[in-house]
Amino acid sequence: MSLDRYAVFGHPVAHSLSPRIHSWFAEQTGERIDYRAFEAPLDDFAGTLRDFFASGGRGANVTVPFKGEASMLADERDARVERSGAANTLRRDADGRIRAFNTDGIGLLRDLVHNLGVDLAGRSVVLLGAGGAAAGVIEPLLEAGPACLIIGNRTPRRAQELARRFADLGPVAAEALADLPAADVIINATAASLDGGLPELAPGVVKSQTFAYDMVYAARPTPFLARCRELGAARTADGLGMLVEQAAEAFLIWRGVRPDTGGVLTRLRASVAEV
Ligand code: NAP
Repeated sequence: MSLDRYAVFGHPVAHSLSPRIHSWFAEQTGERIDYRAFEAPLDDFAGTLRDFFASGGRGANVTVPFKGEASMLADERDARVERSGAANTLRRDADGRIRAFNTDGIGLLRDLVHNLGVDLAGRSVVLLGAGGAAAGVIEPLLEAGPACLIIGNRTPRRAQELARRFADLGPVAAEALADLPAADVIINATAASLDGGLPELAPGVVKSQTFAYDMVYAARPTPFLARCRELGAARTADGLGMLVEQAAEAFLIWRGVRPDTGGVLTRLRASVAEV
C-alpha cells in the first residue's frame, strides 16, 4: 500500500527540519506517511501546491514566504487563519476541499509555557516582526494574559495593521522599533536571523529579567539571542521547540494523533548540534 503523502513548501526550504521531525513522529505513532520538502518558485507557489494536491498529496506545511498565499488559496480557513491571514498547515479532505490551519501560535505557546516554563500572565511582551509568523502567534499570546503585547517591525505600517486587526482580543499595540518599552519577554518573529541579520533593538528593551526567544533555531545562539545576552537578558531560547510543537499540532490535524514531542525535541537538538 502506498504511503500518504505530505510535504513542506517554502523558499528556501533546503534547511527545513520538518521532514526529519515528521518521519520521527510517523515512526513513533506507527502512522504510514511520506513527507518531503519542496522549494516552490516565488512566482508560482499556487501552481506547485495545486499539482501536489492534484497528484494525491494529503497535507502540506507552508513556510516562509508563502503563509499568506496559503491562507488565500484554501477553500476553508479556521478562525485563527481567518483573522491572521496566515496558514502554515493545509489538509485535503475526502470531499476534495483544502482546509487551512495555523499551528504556529499553539506551537510557540506550548514551547514557552510547557517546555520552558515562561509565565506570560501580567508580563510586558514585545513581538518583533509583522509577517506570517508574527500574525499567527498574536491571538494565542493574548490568550495567555500579558499586561501588554507591543509589536515592532522594520516596516511600521505592517505592525500597526496587525495591532488593529487583533485589538478587540486584548492589550495589543504597535510601536516604532526605537520606542519599544522594556520587555519581560521579547520574541523575535522576524526573518533577520536567517541571513545573519539582527532586528533593530532600542536601548532599554532588554533588561536583566528579560526572557528572549528567537523563532529561528541554530546550533549556536542566533545573532538576536547573542545580542540579547550581551544586553544582559536573563534567559534565551531559540525556536527549535516551537518547530517541533507546531509540527505535532499539524500531525494531529492530519492523522488524528498527537505525537509525544519531548523525545523528538531532544533527538533533534542533538542532530542540529552535530551539523
Ligand atoms: P515573513 O512573512 O517573510 O516575514 C518576515 C518578517 O521579518 C517581516 O516582519 C520583515 O519585516 C522582517 N524582516 C526580514 N528581514 C529583516 C531584517 N533584516 N531586519 C529586520 N526585520 C526583518 O516570514 P515569517 O513567515 O513571518 O517568518 C519569520 C521567521 O520566523 C522566519 O525566520 C521563520 O523561519 C521563523 N519561524 C519559525 C517557526 C518555528 O517553528 N520555529 C515558525 C514560523 C516561523 P518587513 O515587514 O519590514 O519586511
